[in-house]
Amino acid sequence: MLRSLLLTASASPRCKGFVEHSRLSRPVVARFVAGNDLDQAIAAARAVVTDRFASLDLLGEATVHRAAADRTAQSYVALVHRIGAEGLAGRVEVSVKLTALGLALPDGRGIALEHAREVCAAARDAGTTVTVDMEQYPYVDATLQTVRELRADFPDVGAVLQAYLRRTEADCRDLSGPSSRIRLCKGAYDEGASVAFRSRAQVDGSYRRCLRILMSGKGYPMVATHDPALITFAGELAEAYGRDRSEFEHQMLYGIRPRAQTTLAATGLRVRVYIPFGNAWYPYFMRRLGERPANLAFFLRSFAPG
Ligand code: FAD
Repeated sequence: MLRSLLLTASASPRCKGFVEHSRLSRPVVARFVAGNDLDQAIAAARAVVTDRFASLDLLGEATVHRAAADRTAQSYVALVHRIGAEGLAGRVEVSVKLTALGLALPDGRGIALEHAREVCAAARDAGTTVTVDMEQYPYVDATLQTVRELRADFPDVGAVLQAYLRRTEADCRDLSGPSSRIRLCKGAYDEGASVAFRSRAQVDGSYRRCLRILMSGKGYPMVATHDPALITFAGELAEAYGRDRSEFEHQMLYGIRPRAQTTLAATGLRVRVYIPFGNAWYPYFMRRLGERPANLAFFLRSFAPG
């Protein structure tokens, strides 16, 4: 209920204006977002890669102007150049949302594909990779189709699948072929019961079934969850299917369970931190608040006087 409310607020211009213009919210936002500019993002990635890997995400989504989509594509090209120039390409990749590259525009699939190709080509030249984030349900088919087309030229493009969707077991089977990089997450949006599991137990059950398909397949599973039970389950599956530590990775979000991230990395497992940066942090931030009531309480306390 609370989560649904916050996800609704994440699309509300009035709430956006209020939260964005409040200086009081800045310290809370800073817990989840690495900074506004490229220098701050690179500094955050440098700190992470001492023991982990990183995926940098230039915040932004649901672009409704062609010029903004063009600018985002150029910014991503600059970002991967910078990753290469800083000597970070072996440990830092990028994550991108197709709606930031134009997917939501009229004729958006072609625009987003063209932009994603530019980003992937620049990433390949810099020696790094791209993972395409998954967004709300109406974009799932277009996103997966775009990933398939990108993979014809850039086989290492990563895709994201959301365990809360009823279709995802089938998508896992489809996409778990040789060297396919798949990030499995629970799913961050508010989807209806006709397409998504709604209870925690159902989502966790689906996550387990999907992860088994990926771990027993021929691809490279990227286990994106902070849930300790699922992290343990991933280790058990990796052992059961004879995967060594270079054949899958754990992924977590910047600012969430940082001690668990370093503890896992210290055991020799590959851990990648998703690091968002940029000015368009509002919807991302609201999704993080909705995932944990304690985050909302912390956020609201920042407005209390004294
Ligand atoms: P939960 O059951 O939500 O949380 C398990 C535990 O983790 C909680 O008990 C708590 O201790 C901790 N935790 C979880 N969230 C928070 C939080 N916000 N603040 C503090 N503690 C928290 N979703 C998409 O829909 N599309 C994507 O492309 C996508 N990419 C992602 C990439 C990465 C690397 C990760 C880690 C997640 C991504 N997600 C994406 C978000 C994901 O779908 C979930 O919304 C989010 O990860 C919370 O789910 P959980 O698996 O951690 O499990």
